[in-house]
Amino acid sequence: MLRVHSTETFGTQDWPGIRFLLFLQWCNFKCVYCQNRDTREFGWWKEMSDEDLIEMIHREEVYFGDRWGVTVSGGEPLMQAKWLISFFTKLKKIWIHTALDTNASILNDDVKKLLEVTDLVLPDIKHMDNEWHKKVTWENNKSVFEFLDYLEKIKKQFWVRYVLVPGYTDQKESIENMWKYLSKFKFLQRIEILPFHNLGEYKWKEMGENYFLKWIHSPKKEELEEVKNILDKHLKNVYIRI
Ligand code: SF4
Repeated sequence: MLRVHSTETFGTQDWPGIRFLLFLQWCNFKCVYCQNRDTREFGWWKEMSDEDLIEMIHREEVYFGDRWGVTVSGGEPLMQAKWLISFFTKLKKIWIHTALDTNASILNDDVKKLLEVTDLVLPDIKHMDNEWHKKVTWENNKSVFEFLDYLEKIKKQFWVRYVLVPGYTDQKESIENMWKYLSKFKFLQRIEILPFHNLGEYKWKEMGENYFLKWIHSPKKEELEEVKNILDKHLKNVYIRI
């Protein structure tokens, strides 16, 4: 059984085409800008079997058109890798495209098995500098780099996502270090720069917590383009995703 926070149909942000989105509960990071603060808590889930979910997907699929699939997000989906293996295996048997939206920080035997039945991985890089990474997530970034190296080793297609947060993740040096690091990957298909926004602030309030980024503005168009221009010089398929 999977511990599910929520589901959404007609997601268009997490892969081209229409997606059935499954948000799982729990996360091992504590990102200061987390938009899904409520997915990190224990006790806020409903348990759903593979069959429950596949039935739900079948009910919606008539509206999806030709190009669609299932994206699992969170929270951090790899925390439930053991249970996701059977769900993704069943989806692959009925030819449904599978994608994982992940903070890319967990690599164990279950995750390795899960990746065998995953078509596309959408890993985040939260920060290239480890001290800043700890300020943003409270965790190290070493495991993220190990995860990305593993994707390359097994020839898995992936798209990197980077949330641009003014004052937190926009240091030029870090952006320069990102293209230097990413330029070695052959199976990296796309890089997406996501502007920070504080639409998830109300979830922090609902949980009685201070939202520290209250005064941080979303990056301006020029700020996003500046980062894109740096990456564009050295990498292919860099996009700003509004
Ligand atoms: S990895 Fe995602 S879900 Fe987890 S704390 Fe960070 S933003 Fe929130």
